[in-house]
Amino acid sequence: MATFKLLLLPGDGIGPEVMAEVETVISHLERTGLASFAIERDLVGGAAYDAHGKAISEEAMRTAQAADAVLFGAVGGPKWAGVPYDARPEAGLLRLRKELGLFANLRPAICYPALADASALKRELVEGLDLMIVRELTGGVYFGEPKEIVTLETGEKRAVDTQLYTTGEIDRIARVAFDLARARGNKVSSAEKHNVMKTGVLWKEVVTKVHADYQDVALEHILADNCAMQLVRAPKQFDVIVCDNLFGDILSDVAAMLTGSLGMLPSASLGAPDPETGKRKSLYEPVHGSAPDIAGQGLANPIAMIGSLAMALRYSFGLGEAADRLEAAIKSALAGGVRTRDIAGPGANAVSTKDMGAAIVRALENG
Ligand code: NAD
Repeated sequence: MATFKLLLLPGDGIGPEVMAEVETVISHLERTGLASFAIERDLVGGAAYDAHGKAISEEAMRTAQAADAVLFGAVGGPKWAGVPYDARPEAGLLRLRKELGLFANLRPAICYPALADASALKRELVEGLDLMIVRELTGGVYFGEPKEIVTLETGEKRAVDTQLYTTGEIDRIARVAFDLARARGNKVSSAEKHNVMKTGVLWKEVVTKVHADYQDVALEHILADNCAMQLVRAPKQFDVIVCDNLFGDILSDVAAMLTGSLGMLPSASLGAPDPETGKRKSLYEPVHGSAPDIAGQGLANPIAMIGSLAMALRYSFGLGEAADRLEAAIKSALAGGVRTRDIAGPGANAVSTKDMGAAIVRALENG
């Protein structure tokens, strides 16, 4: 059995609590011979700042570069509100994304039948929802230059952000989306604004060109504003949605609300495949933050973190079957009525972070 190098970076707030449940699941996977891991652990975010004066140490960066996958908890909290900008907790995550070249952000939005009533939409619109947003993460208007606020001669100020994409950047993210669609519902919806933006024109052109290599996958082009509307009107029409950094930021948050709770949503960020080994650098993390309001109380929902491990099994370790089993165990624990406070509903019984982790491991054992 192959051994996979996994770096665990629990971070701050509820990060260590939800990561502890991932470790429980990993121990189970190892006990049952499903996988073998060489695990390293390190600090990130505020915890790293307290220890080293920076949001991630050089040593942790080296370990991340050498790992087959990084599992990241969450960073930040009021304790570090006053630290210098370059050492703020989020800088650790941004550095990892940049130096590992993680250009593809995958955010699934899955609505478990047992939780369909927790969604902002009607049950029939979201029950069984399973879509994936593929967001370009390292380009576009968040990074394009010039990016500045200048004072004009009149004294008025002018702010500029630059939306910028190259054919190469669009080509590689489109390929990630088409490859994913092949293993899912075989449909890609490419969202842009070619009606008003030049980057939209190029985006549509390149995605259409890449599609020639994926004739078996259905492709639709959709204006990003219409995509937002369709996501809240009839979200089950989508399989994979691919979009730029800005639209992806917004559309993935809309999709998140379809599923009920922040504590349920995993994500993956992938780099380019290594030309020799085909392996991609990768980082997996829950969508939620460090939730300082509930940290240390055993109230956090560990499902987003455990779901992030499932994504690592599938996308970094080629263990699709183990990922399926883990996702089925999450579904089964929920179907059995186990709920942390965030998904329990008012007045209903809620279990602790540890109990939810244990229920998922029990479901794995019985599955
Ligand atoms: P948050 O996601 O931490 O919390 C928002 C709300 O959701 C809170 O009420 C919290 O209790 C709840 N929540 C979040 N995750 C939960 C879980 N697993 N189980 C149950 N409830 C959960 O967002 P925020 O409050 O805006 O930010 C708090 C801190 O986290 C800030 O310092 C922020 O900068 C940081 N943050 C970090 C990341 C990251 O590490 N990737 C992402 C977002 C925010």
